[in-house]
Amino acid sequence: MKRIAVFTSGGDSPGMNACIRAVVRTAIYHKIEVFGIRHGYDGMIKDEFIEMDSSSVANIIHRGGTILKTARSKDFLTIEGRKSALANLKKHNIDGVVVIGGDGSFRGALQFSEICDIPFVGCPGTIDNDLIGTDFAIGYDTAVNTVIDAVDKIRDTAESHDRLFFVEVMGRDAGLIALRSGIGVGAEAIIMPETKTDIEDLIKRLESGRKSKSSKIIIVAEGDEAGGAFVIAEQVKKRLPDYDTRVTILGHIQRGGNPSAMDRVNSSRMGFAAIEALIAGKQNVMIGIIDKKIAYTPFQNAVKHHQRLNPDFVRMLDILSL
Ligand code: ADP
Repeated sequence: MKRIAVFTSGGDSPGMNACIRAVVRTAIYHKIEVFGIRHGYDGMIKDEFIEMDSSSVANIIHRGGTILKTARSKDFLTIEGRKSALANLKKHNIDGVVVIGGDGSFRGALQFSEICDIPFVGCPGTIDNDLIGTDFAIGYDTAVNTVIDAVDKIRDTAESHDRLFFVEVMGRDAGLIALRSGIGVGAEAIIMPETKTDIEDLIKRLESGRKSKSSKIIIVAEGDEAGGAFVIAEQVKKRLPDYDTRVTILGHIQRGGNPSAMDRVNSSRMGFAAIEALIAGKQNVMIGIIDKKIAYTPFQNAVKHHQRLNPDFVRMLDILSL
């Protein structure tokens, strides 16, 4: 292994910079040259390769986003696009690649491996934390902390006005942000794609706690099958018109911000492990951390299923929020 490339792909997440830093510095320690590819697979196709050294990653561990930029690449979905990407990797004599991204990025790497003989190793970067093969993906902890900070503020005003708030958080297919942040803010209920949404049940819950609490917060994952926070709030308003109801969509603030301590440390560990995995001859595996230990999951397994909700957490929330 003489020269590797690293890139970020798909949705960005806080901690990606810490991971890039660890990849670059670990490679340099092992006397491996490093190229960064800007704008994900698009940059691989358009030859956006930049040489990196230790100073290229100075002063970035605490910064959200990704210094290498990221993209969703339509061209990489085509065989012509993937052939151009391969030609550029060969042109730069790359003999190992670290991809930092979510399940789409690993699906892309898997598809690419049909024509590309250069080994790829992945680091999971997704605030949704929906990949199997790691307890915590890069950015998830920070996103949950951002939600908690925002909802604490909403709680203050909700409490002053005796209001019912529906707060929509990210999670197109997964309710992991909703569940963890909902427990953290003491939400009265959580609405997630993994569990069937029963409006009647939600109304019963709201009514049963009516006397004991003046404010109520319902966390809604954006991908819930009953619709987003506005749709669900409308249905509840029709049934409970005397509630003073408001809706807040947290949106993209969940993707940004300085990474938490946990994201910085996990990202550093995974970036470090990615280079050592390439040196050890591993390929098409995602690095993860399971029970505090580094774990290797083949891309095809990591993208096959989504991480499931912990049923103990769901049960606990139901009891604690009464
Ligand atoms: P994430 O990695 O955050 O899940 P995406 O789902 O957008 O983000 O995937 C990132 C990129 O990976 C896509 O824009 C596309 O270029 C590439 N990709 C995803 N799936 C495939 C596939 N089946 N074949 C080739 N490339 C793919």
